[in-house]
Amino acid sequence: MTTAESSTESSTAARTEARAEVREEARTEGGPVARDGGTVTDHLLAANTRYAERFEDPGMDARPVLGVAVVACMDARIDLHAALGLALGDCHTVRNAGGVVTDDTIRSLTISQRALGTRSVILVHHTGCGLQSLTEEFRHELEREVGQRPSWAVEGFTDVDQDVRQSLQKVRTSPFLPHTDDVRGFVFDVRTGRLREVT
Ligand SMILES: [Zn+2]
Repeated sequence: MTTAESSTESSTAARTEARAEVREEARTEGGPVARDGGTVTDHLLAANTRYAERFEDPGMDARPVLGVAVVACMDARIDLHAALGLALGDCHTVRNAGGVVTDDTIRSLTISQRALGTRSVILVHHTGCGLQSLTEEFRHELEREVGQRPSWAVEGFTDVDQDVRQSLQKVRTSPFLPHTDDVRGFVFDVRTGRLREVT
């Protein structure tokens, strides 16, 4: 093991330990909202204070070490860094509801590739996604309630594999992205932690 790998492992262990402490405090104090009467944000800020006390400047620039951008659903059950063996500084992560490829996803990927040197793209959708139960009716209900039609699509879907294929196609055919040779898509199983590739 190299020194770099060893220090990466120890900093990952420190982060995992810090998270466990936060969770334990949340449990023992009746939930994250109740800590000292503070809000969940207060709780997170307290965690950050502890994090910063142990933090050492990694001396990196903004270019991801592995030259990869990961586009994934925002789902709370997916720990991208742990699931993909990624360390601090390794990749760009672009997350939204569904991990879908919107204009804004393309904006981030374009900056990632053209300004910050990434070459590969990985898409991560998953089992049990909240978007699988949503339809465009959600958008219509919203319009009826607030009197304004949102400019964005809900991007709901029924077939997760098909949704990954559609997202792959959008990345591969984007005129703004110079590097589309290594674009692969996966479904993450939230029960097993395994990735299944969609081709
Ligand atoms: Zn999801």
